[in-house]
Order: sequence, then C-alpha cells, then structure tokens
Amino acid sequence: MRKAVIAGNWKMHMTCAETRVFAATFRPLIADSPDDREVVIAPPFTSIPTLCRHLEGAGVKFAGQNVHWEDQGAYTGMISAPMLLEHGVSYAIVGHSEPRKYYSESDEQINLRARNAQRHGLIPILCVGESLDQRESNETERVIHRQIEQGLEDVDPTQVVVAYEPIWAIGTGKTCAAEEANRICGLIRGWVGNPGVTVQYGGSVNPATIDDLMAQSDIDGVLVGGASLDPVSFARIVNYGR
Ligand code: PGA
Repeated sequence: MRKAVIAGNWKMHMTCAETRVFAATFRPLIADSPDDREVVIAPPFTSIPTLCRHLEGAGVKFAGQNVHWEDQGAYTGMISAPMLLEHGVSYAIVGHSEPRKYYSESDEQINLRARNAQRHGLIPILCVGESLDQRESNETERVIHRQIEQGLEDVDPTQVVVAYEPIWAIGTGKTCAAEEANRICGLIRGWVGNPGVTVQYGGSVNPATIDDLMAQSDIDGVLVGGASLDPVSFARIVNYGR
C-alpha cells in the first residue's frame, strides 16, 4: 500500500505573519485526518521556522521549494540541504516547471539537486510535465520519459516522490482529466522502476477535483499550488474522501 502524500507548494507567497494566521486556522481542521496520508507544506524559505513552530506536533512535514547541489559556496540566492535540515525539513521540490522556465534549470542540474538532497536524507519531489505545445504535438510521453531518466540518474528510486505536473494545468484552473493524469502517472511509475514509488498529480488541484483524482489507481497524492494558500481549501484537500 503506497502512502498518499498531499503537498502544498506556497511558491512566493506567505510572509511570517500570514503563515501564523494560516497555521492557526489549518491546525484544528486536520487534527483528525486519517494516517494513511502524509501532509507536506513547502513554504518560502523565510517562513519555514514560523510554520514549523506553529504546526509542531500536528503531524505535518515540511519541504524546501528547491535545494542546491552543493552544501555551501558562492551561489547567491540559493539554499543547501544542510540549511533545510537544520529547520526540520524532510522533502525538497526539484525540477518544478517555474525554475525550469525562469532560471533555465536543466535536467542535469535537477539530477544533481536530487542526488545531493538524498545524500543528506531529504526526499526529493521531482516534478515533470509537458507544455501545451508538447502535448499537442504528441510529445508528452517522450518528454516525461526523458525528464525521469535524466532527473533520476543515480537517484535511489525508493527514496523519491515524483509529481506529474502538466505545465498547461499549473495555475490555469484547467485540471488534467483524472483518467489521463492516471495514465501518465502509471507510465511514470514504470519508468521510475519502483512499483512502490509515490506519484503525485499537480496542476490546478482544488477541493472539487481532489476526490476524483485520489480515486485513481496510479495517483498517490497531489502537489497543490494556489489552493494550498487557503487553509480551509487545503484542509479539504487533505481530508479527501471523507
Ligand atoms: P497550482 O500549482 O495548483 O496553482 O496549479 C501547482 C504547482 O505548481 O505545483
């Protein structure tokens, strides 16, 4: 039985003050969520200590929104695995389509990030997914296969989460049809080569679509952007199926 991982990616949202307000509302709403699911939140780096403090003992895990492949050095603007670990973080998102697009992150760099994260005991959440152009020209499977192959080279497939995030579904309100997301997640599981790997879907997930997505055989969780900023919406997503 694969454990469901329900993760919120706050992106560049939430000051410490806003984080405190979120935690106060969110905490009681997930107090009796079933233990067949893990709840993860990836706040901006500056809000990690505040969120950890205010959700202490609530059973929530934390993620970095990215992580560097070196432990220290002249890399302005970056954060390292030891820096995240010092704050009790357990996961790190790598290969999200936004840094791929805005900072030209390559599959090779993403692979180095994932490997160094694992070396320190952080579980990488590798994001993969096709653009609308790639989908329309029937390149979806080829693109994702390549992202998996290169992103997971020399990465332990038992200590990783993969998130299928079609780029055209991110922040657009267009959720991928659950059956199609399930098909791609199944392919990803085969390419990773570990039947036990947790494969998430991400892209405009909201309280109205979560039950259908989580009812699919190959979707083991979700990576939620916009809807994770609202504590009531995110708690509904965490409490799917109830
Ligand atoms: P969204 O973002 O839920 O706002 O579409 C998902 C993501 O980028 O991880």
